[in-house]
Amino acid sequence: CEFGYEKAWQYYETKMEETRYWKRKLGYHITTGLTKNEFYLEYQPIVDAASGRPLLMEALIRWEHPTLGTISPGRFIPLAEELGSIVALGRWVLMESCRMAASWKEAGHQNLIVSVNVSVKQLLEGKAFVQTVKEILEETALPPSLLELEITETVLMSKEGDIKKTLEQLEKLGVRLAIDDFGTGYSSLTHLNTFPVHTLKIDKSFIHNLSHQENNKAIVSSLVTLAGQLDLCSIAEGVETAEEAAVLKEKQCQGLQGYYFSRPLPAFEVPAYLQRMNPG
Ligand code: C2E
Ligand code: CA
Ligand code: CA
Ligand code: CA
Repeated sequence: CEFGYEKAWQYYETKMEETRYWKRKLGYHITTGLTKNEFYLEYQPIVDAASGRPLLMEALIRWEHPTLGTISPGRFIPLAEELGSIVALGRWVLMESCRMAASWKEAGHQNLIVSVNVSVKQLLEGKAFVQTVKEILEETALPPSLLELEITETVLMSKEGDIKKTLEQLEKLGVRLAIDDFGTGYSSLTHLNTFPVHTLKIDKSFIHNLSHQENNKAIVSSLVTLAGQLDLCSIAEGVETAEEAAVLKEKQCQGLQGYYFSRPLPAFEVPAYLQRMNPG
């Protein structure tokens, strides 16, 4: 019969080959792309809920391949993690964003923090990663307090390596630590409290439709309260409407980020944006 076992299996195998082929191809392009300057960063502001002024800028990686076109980080970051190229890529992101943050400081934005996404694979490098961060801060002359590292909540639950020790060494350097996608990882409170964390970034899945969804409102409210009780800063990501912003302000969330305030900006647009938001 047409859809016999053989046929189905052949089809399955072809599909698998295709994915493996693409993975290998993309993986190769990630490594060469780094030397060919195909990656760049955009920066998305996180504004103070009360004043509307930017507190932090989150660095978000972009890839424009000459023939494959634009490839989203959602597609190539997991692959880079799987292949190990995330370590070199992540190092480049750190260097580039710290250099940029130092230039904003030079331009008079004394307290503006740059926030950088860090993969668990980078943290698992342990001492070597801490050393990398230290060297980059020295080379760029960026005060450690102006660098925030974003790690996802699931990283805290990783059984591999000694993540906690690495985070403690990073805190000793004076950098800030944020928990990204907070609320999606089911980490316990007592657990959270044992890590040297400064900021909770409430996942955007809770922010969407905030004004119409009572359960999301309740969740956000308790996450903001939790942050306050643990003496942590709270940031909401994915804020898309004035209504969502209003609810978050009412709930006393401190930092707001999302398309409603600003899309991620190319580096060359940042100075004008900062000037506009911090007049005089
Ligand atoms: P993330 O860290 O949770 O970043 C938030 C994502 O939401 C970004 O997508 C951002 O562009 C998008 N976003 C911003 N405002 C809104 C909004 O109002 N509504 C909605 N629906 N989305 C919004 P992006 O840039 O595609 O990045 C996707 C993910 O890729 C990031 O999620 C992060 O996990 C990862 N990523 C990006 N850059 C880096 C990097 O340099 N290193 C590492 N390790 N991961 C990165
Ligand atoms: Ca992030
Ligand atoms: Ca996030
Ligand atoms: Ca995410």
